[in-house]
Amino acid sequence: MILKLRKRGLEVRMPVEADNAREEAKEIVEKCFKCGFCKKVCPVLRVLRGEQNSPRGRVLMIENDVFDSIVYNCTLCKACETLCPADIKLCDAFIKVRKALVADKKEFQENKDLVRNVDRTGNIFGEIY
Ligand code: SF4
Ligand code: SF4
Repeated sequence: MILKLRKRGLEVRMPVEADNAREEAKEIVEKCFKCGFCKKVCPVLRVLRGEQNSPRGRVLMIENDVFDSIVYNCTLCKACETLCPADIKLCDAFIKVRKALVADKKEFQENKDLVRNVDRTGNIFGEIY
């Protein structure tokens, strides 16, 4: 949703939803103390490697205002949450980041196609013949 403000003949577009989602994501991860326990069980990190593909890496990105489509690499399996001593709901934060990307129209084309297919046909793959 884009909030439109009209003032002195000018239209100002304010991406309220994206800003809110980013702030909420940052609030969720603010208790992280970077122990790295969550990295031990992440199936994506095991395959792709690199801190940016780890749950802790994504927390660091969120804290530093890096809201990147790399967050789509997460499967939202929640394995990381089971080992987090701070009980951080990491997947909630990653979903918020995806929400911000969608609001900013920065998500993957594949995600846009999937959403369009569901809207049109109720099927993520679109028409089935
Ligand atoms: S396990 Fe929790 S506190 Fe530790 S790095 Fe991961 S998210 Fe942060
Ligand atoms: S929810 Fe995402 S970050 Fe956490 S373990 Fe699963 S794939 Fe890794």
